[in-house]
Amino acid sequence: VVRIDALHKSFGEKQVLRGIDLEVRSGEVVCVIGPSGSGKSTLLRCVNLLEEPTGGSIEVLGTEVTDPDVDIDHVRTHVGMVFQQFNLFTHRTVLDNCTMAQRTVLRRSRAEAERVARENLARVGLAGTESLMPAQLSGGMQQRVAIARALSMDPQLMLFDEPTSALDPELVGDVLGVMRDLAEGGMTMIVVTHEMAFAREVGDRVVFMDGGVVVEDGPADEVIGAPREERTREFLQRVL
Ligand code: ATP
Ligand code: MG
Repeated sequence: VVRIDALHKSFGEKQVLRGIDLEVRSGEVVCVIGPSGSGKSTLLRCVNLLEEPTGGSIEVLGTEVTDPDVDIDHVRTHVGMVFQQFNLFTHRTVLDNCTMAQRTVLRRSRAEAERVARENLARVGLAGTESLMPAQLSGGMQQRVAIARALSMDPQLMLFDEPTSALDPELVGDVLGVMRDLAEGGMTMIVVTHEMAFAREVGDRVVFMDGGVVVEDGPADEVIGAPREERTREFLQRVL
């Protein structure tokens, strides 16, 4: 589903990604861990071209997104992204948040978009919140709206960038639970996270990044439970 080869990204003189190779297969859940500034968000943002790579290639859902002629909007339609800050439209209802892109991008009718939105809101445990405004919801509920909104576009790949980092501790579990359900339902996911227990239990693979490179990539249990690289061990000692 995703194939990244020798990906480089610099901001001016600053090299942030220095040769990333990564493959994600259909139905796989890959968790990306690593210290602040290691390039995790930049990697994720390169996958749907929110950042333009300065070298290497990225294939997403069979399309070479680094090809200058690519129809990136077509690729983005099939890739859901959930950020640390929920990025909801604050003066639109929960239901509107979940129907707007369906109507404008997928050209669904209002009735169809609302049906899909209600279904996905129920799936994340938010049936009945349709007419509320985001500010009336807790952070955890807002993040679940963001997930329902992404799911309403029928994505074939979901990217999560620290989806629980902005939440109060007691709200983290509900969001991780929704993500776990998604993973068990077979969704292909790349998840940047500081939640090591989640990465270990839900991730098929864990990728440890440091200094713009992939230091270690392997089965979740091995990378977190028995890392091979010294740098991974040091990082885990600090965060566990
Ligand atoms: P965190 O865990 O704190 O979210 P991260 O691993 O996601 O960190 P990135 O956000 O990818 O790290 O940033 C990696 C480096 O790239 C940082 O040094 C950051 O300052 C730099 N960087 C990111 N975006 C830009 C930008 N638009 N312009 C210049 N530098 C940037
Ligand atoms: Mg980040």
